[in-house]
Amino acid sequence: MNERDSDSAAALLIAAGHQFTANEDDADIFILNTCSVREQAERKAIGKLGIMKRLKEKKPDMIFGIMGCMAQSRGEELLQSIKHLDFAAGTDQIHMIPELVEDILKERKKSYLGDRTSPDSPGIDSHRFEPGEKQYSAFVSIMRGCSRFCSYCIVPFVRGPERSRDAASIVNECKMLAERGVKEIMLLGQNVAAYGMDNTAPPPPPGVSPFADLLTQINDIEGLCRIRFTSPHPAFFNDRLIQAVAELPKVCKCVHLPLQSGSDPVLKRMNRPYTAEQYLNVIRSLRALVPDITFSTDVIVGFPGETEEDFNATRRVMAEAAYDNAYIFKYSPRKGTKSAKWEDDVPQEIKEERNRILLEDMEQALEKRNRALSGRVFDVLAEGPSKRNPNRWQGRTDTFKNVVFLPPPGVKEGDIIPVKIARTTAMTLYGEIPDGM
Ligand code: SF4
Repeated sequence: MNERDSDSAAALLIAAGHQFTANEDDADIFILNTCSVREQAERKAIGKLGIMKRLKEKKPDMIFGIMGCMAQSRGEELLQSIKHLDFAAGTDQIHMIPELVEDILKERKKSYLGDRTSPDSPGIDSHRFEPGEKQYSAFVSIMRGCSRFCSYCIVPFVRGPERSRDAASIVNECKMLAERGVKEIMLLGQNVAAYGMDNTAPPPPPGVSPFADLLTQINDIEGLCRIRFTSPHPAFFNDRLIQAVAELPKVCKCVHLPLQSGSDPVLKRMNRPYTAEQYLNVIRSLRALVPDITFSTDVIVGFPGETEEDFNATRRVMAEAAYDNAYIFKYSPRKGTKSAKWEDDVPQEIKEERNRILLEDMEQALEKRNRALSGRVFDVLAEGPSKRNPNRWQGRTDTFKNVVFLPPPGVKEGDIIPVKIARTTAMTLYGEIPDGM
């Protein structure tokens, strides 16, 4: 999401006549995009704000701003306390950044913009394309904010309530990207499964999923090959959406479905309105329709009051869900949230231990499942030379498995090519182009 917002801000500034540079020392305008979801991210941003003083001393005319969650929640305070900071643009004010910069160029005056605007505000569909470079993949924001108020999460406070973009404007953006050669689109939102049902309580009415309708429209766009999305809330993942994911050929068969905990009492305290069984039913239904489908998830270990029994419940759900990837977070209280008022009573070493166990369980099971893929042929979207060995290329199956292969002559980034799997590990499949192809 933040990457998409940074790209949008850069595209708007380029349209206003500025140039992009990846080198901090060359920049005349520097904008730090900030995240408040984890305390560590906020600490990092504060550190970076301090380091930026050095650049401003070298170039006193440099314009230095912040955007994103921290700009929204602490922008005014930071403008007061950080002398070299010129502006703070909140999460819904990206489209105003070029104007802010122009104003500062005319008159050096600190500015803060934190109002909420329409999710279809100008510029949300702006993308930065490197001149002469083909881009095969792009992010598209389909909604802003979140109204779920999970008890540990700061997002609804800093990003505001759910606001879905107009479907026609999203489809037009995807068409524009396809015309520019983009093959793969990642649809973004804090709760994409609730797209078009802003601020309503789950479950959605049976057979109703505006997000499934949107996927259907995007699936029809000529030139696009793959559609991915993140993140859907399990409580909004109804049968209509399950059917759409299973049946629409361009929708990738990999779903990131945040679990957070496999224990019903913990889910309740987290204000996650589903049970472990309901969560698993989504997984089971999808797997029954698409046996090769893969899943990834987010899990929090050491949530206040999490017992050994609660943890074992999470372990059992994870074993059945059989994830390809899991982002496991050791709980830490976030100021301003409901759970921050509760005692953070699970010792750090227990959190570490639970984190390690879940990762080990997942890796062992994944290694075994991947081994069964040897000899199979998959369509792989070629992403370019592998980071570890530039003589090989890497790419992704539509189930998001990482594949490393010897590139056939003439292959280009974004090509979809068949690769036969010869060898596997838990994280990577190694393969070659099958004979005769
Ligand atoms: S659904 Fe996600 S973004 Fe929204 S409050 Fe819960 S954890 Fe935060």
